[in-house]
Amino acid sequence: MTNKNITNIITSLESVLSKGNDFIALHEPIFNGNEWKYTKDCLDSTYVSSVGAYVDRFESDLKKVTGLKHVVAVVNGTAALHICLKIVGVEKGDEVLVPTLTFVATANAVTYNGAIPHFVDSSYLTLGMDPEKLDNYLKDISEMRGGECFNKKTGRRIKAVLPVHTFGHSVDLDSLLIVCERYKLELVEDAAESLGSFYKGKHTGNWGKVAAVSFNGNKIVTTGGGGAILTNDDRLGDYARHLTTTAKVKHPWLFVHDEIGFNYRMPNINAALGCAHLEALPRAIEKKRQLVNLYQIAFQGIKGVKVFTEPTFAKSNYWLNVLLLDDDLSQERDSLLDLLNARGIMVRPLWTLMHELQIYNDCPTMDDLSVAQNLSRCLINIPSSPHLVV
Ligand SMILES: *Cc1c(COP(=O)(O)O)cnc(C)c1O
Repeated sequence: MTNKNITNIITSLESVLSKGNDFIALHEPIFNGNEWKYTKDCLDSTYVSSVGAYVDRFESDLKKVTGLKHVVAVVNGTAALHICLKIVGVEKGDEVLVPTLTFVATANAVTYNGAIPHFVDSSYLTLGMDPEKLDNYLKDISEMRGGECFNKKTGRRIKAVLPVHTFGHSVDLDSLLIVCERYKLELVEDAAESLGSFYKGKHTGNWGKVAAVSFNGNKIVTTGGGGAILTNDDRLGDYARHLTTTAKVKHPWLFVHDEIGFNYRMPNINAALGCAHLEALPRAIEKKRQLVNLYQIAFQGIKGVKVFTEPTFAKSNYWLNVLLLDDDLSQERDSLLDLLNARGIMVRPLWTLMHELQIYNDCPTMDDLSVAQNLSRCLINIPSSPHLVV
């Protein structure tokens, strides 16, 4: 006994994805450019490991794409976040404000620094942190002492805010910056999903003191595994490079390390792949923006469901497309997910909210996480690979 609305949703999705009998993944890369040429060239050079000519080139290409002054390519997005938080001064015992609606890496990076994630709610407009709600919340629970922000309940210092540009949609960065300035908090952007996404005409990552990008295989540009630290701050750029290169003091033959650093730099072989895949980014975004249009047309007039589109201040890469089910239909979400996956169309619900994970359920949270909780019931991700558009 299938609900009529569910049948309509399946028909609409299949009208956009009429691609024969192949399994349709949520997001998969396609390599039809210089990927073989550059990786072969890298192998021929024998310089496959940490740092090398392709790493330099990848970093410089990323500067052009993002408009940021410093780019440090690292082994993955989680490592990038770890270092971002460390270099803005997050210390053991601090709290960092993190959306409960995110992938676990955001919270893990806080924990790697010995700090505690403090979970906050999201907004329907961006699917990311809600600046007004955050402002009101901090007014309530925090106090300023010696120019620093403290959680009145736990007594711990609140050092930073770590918003996520969820599925490629930028949060309202200007409003968040105002909150950060009011409470003397460092803004770090988790831009793992937002390469190629803009806020008010400027690439995401330009508002925080530092930002992290991911080049995992499912992201819009991939290096196999990889990430980058982005910043416009000269000192932080240098420090990020130093810390991720085992904090080795520059010298032609002597090995001196002036603090405990990390072996986090991206290998050259990964950067070679990244250089080629990055060349395809403009075309990928074009196609992904066409795909969301096709979805919008297909779902026009279908009851109980809406295609999420970018907020007016943003231009999104549409990394993962989002369907929002209304209250009635969200009761049947699981049967919809079962039916579509059985038909070879990969769809999935939101990540389990961070405050609901057993590993994080004793962390401080906003009392009201109702938007994130509601989204976790009614949001599903649908196939979003650029090559779904011919
Ligand atoms: C992918 C992702 C990360 C982590 O990136 P990895 O390269 O997989 O370590 C962090 N935050 C968010 C929001 C992500 O989607």
